[in-house]
Amino acid sequence: MNTQLRVEHLSKTFVLHQQNGVRLPVLRDANLTVRGGECVVLHGHSGSGKSTLLRSLYANYLPDQGHIWIQHQGGWLDMVQAEARQILTVRRHTVGWVSQFLRVIPRISALDLVMQPLLELGVERRQCLARAEEMLDRLNVPRRLWHLAPSTFSGGEQQRVNIARGFINDYPVLLLDEPTASLDGRNGSAVVALIEQAKQRGAAIVGIFHDDAIRQRVADRLYDMQPPNEVKTPDDHQ
Ligand code: ADP
Ligand code: MG
Repeated sequence: MNTQLRVEHLSKTFVLHQQNGVRLPVLRDANLTVRGGECVVLHGHSGSGKSTLLRSLYANYLPDQGHIWIQHQGGWLDMVQAEARQILTVRRHTVGWVSQFLRVIPRISALDLVMQPLLELGVERRQCLARAEEMLDRLNVPRRLWHLAPSTFSGGEQQRVNIARGFINDYPVLLLDEPTASLDGRNGSAVVALIEQAKQRGAAIVGIFHDDAIRQRVADRLYDMQPPNEVKTPDDHQ
């Protein structure tokens, strides 16, 4: 399969206090290539920068250096250099994202939340609805909840709505930040099945999974995060 995603020399340092200049280097010269049909799992202890790398891939964080090449509609786009308008297009068509928690929007039903990304692509409403129902069903979200706003749902139910939304479109690239953290075994398996199906159709997946069993089932490769550097204060530079 072809390369879908390539990270080159990516670095990111958080400035913790603007005034006294405390800096936390999190990513240092990260390099990663992901092919279609492959799931790479980011591996490292808490605070090692897994989410920071994933968020950078989705252009939620702007790295200090490096490139994030994504294959998008037959060409290559660097998410680091891209304009806001291009980033939105890439997200809409090419890169699916599942965070650890659902961003609940008051008064919007689970069904509407799940099908929104497909509607935005111009897919006919009836088709969107059918697909959203199929996804909610696969993730064992009870039918009685489909027309309710997820703000009152349990953590696991919200997360399953979130995953249904992330997989609603057949995105060529999928970024998954601990999607199974609040799920039980049965629902964890439902997510594993979705990931396997996405791999079969050629999606390139980068994910974070704490559960060893799930990691072993989905990972084609582990990407070891470098331990983060110590916090640097201005004195350290002298
Ligand atoms: P992981 O996902 O591996 O647990 P993170 O990428 O969330 O790690 O965090 C890596 C380090 O960067 C942590 O020390 C965290 O506190 C810090 N960090 C993450 N996001 C920010 C932010 N927006 N501002 C400042 N520091 C951050
Ligand atoms: Mg994290």
